[in-house]
Amino acid sequence: MNFDYSPEEETFRQEVRTWMEANAPRDPSGIATGMRIGKETQFAWEKKLASKGWLAYTWPAEFGGPGFTPVQRDIFDAERARAGAPSVIPFALMMLGPVLMKFGTPEQQKRFLPRIASAEQVWCQGYSEPGSGSDLASLKTQAVRQGDKYIVNGQKIWTTQAHWAHWIFCLVRTSGDGSKQQGISFLLMDMNTKGIEVRPIVTIDGHHHLNEVFFTDVEVPVENLVGVEGQGWTIAKYLLTHERTAIAGVGDSKRQLRWLSETVARDPALKDSPHARRRIAELEVDLLALEYTNLRTLDRMAKGHSPGPESSGLKIKGTELQQGISEAQLEFGGLQAMPWGQDVEGEPVYRAASTRYNFLRACTIYGGSNEIQKNVLAKVLIGL
Ligand SMILES: Cc1cc2nc3c(=O)[nH]c(=O)nc-3n(C[C@H](O)[C@H](O)[C@H](O)COP(=O)(O)OP(=O)(O)OC[C@H]3O[C@@H](n4cnc5c(N)ncnc54)[C@H](O)[C@@H]3O)c2cc1C
Repeated sequence: MNFDYSPEEETFRQEVRTWMEANAPRDPSGIATGMRIGKETQFAWEKKLASKGWLAYTWPAEFGGPGFTPVQRDIFDAERARAGAPSVIPFALMMLGPVLMKFGTPEQQKRFLPRIASAEQVWCQGYSEPGSGSDLASLKTQAVRQGDKYIVNGQKIWTTQAHWAHWIFCLVRTSGDGSKQQGISFLLMDMNTKGIEVRPIVTIDGHHHLNEVFFTDVEVPVENLVGVEGQGWTIAKYLLTHERTAIAGVGDSKRQLRWLSETVARDPALKDSPHARRRIAELEVDLLALEYTNLRTLDRMAKGHSPGPESSGLKIKGTELQQGISEAQLEFGGLQAMPWGQDVEGEPVYRAASTRYNFLRACTIYGGSNEIQKNVLAKVLIGL
């Protein structure tokens, strides 16, 4: 493919840049360098994107998205990150959306997709359980069919933003027969249903994004089953390729690398350091390579293919790069690299670079650990 932007793409970039500059949330707490933002700011931002028709920016027009080309998606994400605006909560937009488009009934598509694209419904992902992370197919949360309902009992863990979400998509066990992959189904649940309890987990960055979710005799209508009973593993794998592609995070890495380069260029003790320059150059080369690989995957997706195993490669390189940039930010970030600082009124605040560094310890784990991605690649590429 041709990597030069066409005049139309340049015009599109300018349109997105102008809109982002006018509409991105202002940045009092350092979103640009990775600080966490609150629910109200995040939801207001997603509403604003939705009113422009850009929230579901990865969706085709037939399902209510803007129908961007792969290059437009890349430009959009880069400009969003450049403006220091938060990324969207990915679970419905990047994961459930494509699943419903492929496996959902027309009724499910009509019921959920417009609400997701308009920022009315926020979702979380109920895959992992205690003891079932890498070995996801060993999951035990049970759904027993009783007439026109399932009765769900069990527990999920590490559920990002479950305390914000209106709905959860879950992998549940509907049968113990056959292989462990065979008895899994994909179920949608309203978080307000009686019997669902959310308990917080605070992580090393000092924030609450993760949760445990408990299900006790939760009644779920059978029309909330996606695909057929027992097809959950196929759906789960399809969803994970979309999740891993989204984790690559090219736009945000560009933003972070720019912050690093500017910080080093302003520092008289660092700006001529061969060590700092080499580190930044290495990161830039890796990021460029990742961007082109990402564009190739997006191009295939736009032609109707699912991301496939290359999503595992993108996930590995993307997350290693995110960690590499955040490590360099700590090494060269001076005051910004301190874990604590003071705001203009002298109040203690977390420094964004160190918060980000701490959070990013997790990126090689979530979405399936990088060791598991290497196993996926080994199986596909060399048949191990
Ligand atoms: C910040 C964060 C957010 C998350 N958000 C969500 C979410 O929203 N929804 C959700 O469902 N889950 C979520 N997760 C869970 C995540 O998917 C799991 O943590 C991940 O799949 C690893 O599972 P585990 O934690 O049980 O570790 P384990 O599976 O116990 O793995 C422990 C270690 O052993 C290694 N290992 C295990 N098996 C193998 C193998 N076969 N070969 C080589 N190495 C192996 C792993 O790589 C890892 O280093 C999140 C996790 C984090 C950290």
